Parts: sequence; C-alpha cells; structure tokens
Amino acid sequence: MSKAMELLKRFCADADDVRYFLQEPWKDANGTVMASNGHVAIILDPGTDVPEVAFVDTPRSAKLIGWASEIPSAGFLPARWDFAPDPECDQCDRKSSEPDEDGFVDSCYWCDGTGFNKKETIAVGDAHFAKHYLRLIASLPDCQIATAGSGGRAFFRFNGGIGFLMPVRR
Ligand SMILES: [Zn+2]
Repeated sequence: MSKAMELLKRFCADADDVRYFLQEPWKDANGTVMASNGHVAIILDPGTDVPEVAFVDTPRSAKLIGWASEIPSAGFLPARWDFAPDPECDQCDRKSSEPDEDGFVDSCYWCDGTGFNKKETIAVGDAHFAKHYLRLIASLPDCQIATAGSGGRAFFRFNGGIGFLMPVRR
C-alpha cells in the first residue's frame, strides 16, 4: 500500500462499519481524491493522483468540495498538540466479553475493549473534539485548524490538502 493510501485509510470508516461506502477513499470525476468516515474528512490537493483509488460517482464528492468554500472565519490555529497518553478506562474491567457463537463481541462503549478511554474530548478554539481525531490531524504536515463553534464543522488545511472535523457536542 502506498504512503498516500495508508494516510487516506486512516480517514476511512472501519471495515465493520455498516457505511461500507465510507470504507475506502474515492475520487470524483475530476480525479480529486477524498476520504471520510463521517466524522472527519480529507480532500487531497487537486491533481494529486493516488492510482489505487477508484472513481466513485457519488453526491458525497460535491458535498465535501462545497464544504471547502465555507471556511470558518475564526482564524487558523496550528494543529500542534502534545497530548498525554489516553487515560485508562474506568468504566469496565478492560476486557471485551467473549465472542458469542456468531463471533459478535460486546465491547465497552468508552474504550472499545482497549482499556484506554478513547472518548476523551479536548477543547480547541471554541469547540471540543475527540482527541484521537486531533491526533490524526496533527500528524499531517504543517496542519492548521479553524474551528466553527460548538456545533460547526472545523476546517483544516495541510501541506497536501484540506479537510473537515466534526466537533463533539457537550
Ligand atoms: Zn472500557
């Protein structure tokens, strides 16, 4: 898998997500490459080709590109955070239950059975975001984020593209 594809996959829905159409990145009719899991989205700069990514004819493309014209006016902050490791989950015994006969596992909502609380939120500007998404965005080169209030889509830009992040309502 190419580096670009590895990056895009981090923005896709998990393989077990019912929104199968969000499990892979796609490109629009202009060849613009994008990916989203419904909470976070990435659009690579026009002309950036990732050969493994297939064209998909979907209204989601125009929707994402349309959002790119709605940049919050709050101003950009550098997406540079030095987060402590995730805290241990205090809601469970740090184990998923045994899989049932059909292979389904009942995991802790707070930690997905990992033992570490993944639901922690962090305030950035005037909104709160899931820490694991902020970490993902901070891994992008020269990334900056502009927030849009407690219920608005934050916009980010980096050396290579742009994207959006949905806040966590509190
Ligand atoms: Zn837990």
